[in-house]
Amino acid sequence: MSALLSIEAIDVRYDKVRALNGVSIRLDKGEVVALIGANGAGKSTTLRAICGLARPVAGQISFDGAPISGLRADQIVARGISMVPEGRHIYPFMTVKDNLLMGAFLRRDKAGIASDLERLFVRFPRLKERMGQQAGTLSGGEQQMVAIGRALMARPRLLLLDEPSLGLAPQMIREIARVIKSVNQEDGVSILLVEQNSRMALKVSNRAYALATGRIALEGSSADLLTNEEIRKLYLGIG
Ligand code: ATP
Repeated sequence: MSALLSIEAIDVRYDKVRALNGVSIRLDKGEVVALIGANGAGKSTTLRAICGLARPVAGQISFDGAPISGLRADQIVARGISMVPEGRHIYPFMTVKDNLLMGAFLRRDKAGIASDLERLFVRFPRLKERMGQQAGTLSGGEQQMVAIGRALMARPRLLLLDEPSLGLAPQMIREIARVIKSVNQEDGVSILLVEQNSRMALKVSNRAYALATGRIALEGSSADLLTNEEIRKLYLGIG
């Protein structure tokens, strides 16, 4: 298996705060990899480093065999990495359809954009019903779907999801989990999933890493981690 994403021993600092210390993560083509950990462990910072929004002071990040540390955020999107940020950051006063089209801003293939939008509406029928509505009037779960749909409109090879289940009701969390699986299995998009909902993250992923205060504390197959004593105590609240 060749690594699609390879993060090697990166350090990230915010002034004096050492947010990440020697973090290494590997994601193979076709995988869903979860990154779990408590508040402030460095999960979002890891995603920000991949997208070019936080600069590692040491270590290296490669995508599809080529280094991407040092590239601008838009250059990284052009390579095939899209992020769904924590809190969704949709455009509340724009329609659902225009929000989705924003994800295709780097593309010039009009026919491809139109057919991807159609496919997206098959995946998210609720968004089709509401495509002319201002996105800010949607429920939290629907807004999360807009954010995921917008990222997919860039036709990424790697999708970065930052806490997609945050603030959502259990039924909607199950729906998001289904979407993650189908995007991975049907569209062949690899996914790096950051979650505080460790149970959901371990259920939808192949492998996982647990971050604790800026370091990788544990890693393994998600099935193994679901039954790991330490993970059950620290991250699943069992035992
Ligand atoms: P959360 O789930 O709360 O977002 P996280 O695991 O994603 O947590 P990060 O947001 O990556 O954690 O934060 C890692 C560390 O870096 C924390 O100690 C945090 O306080 C600090 N930090 C994050 N962003 C900044 C910033 N812009 N300036 C200074 N410190 C920051």
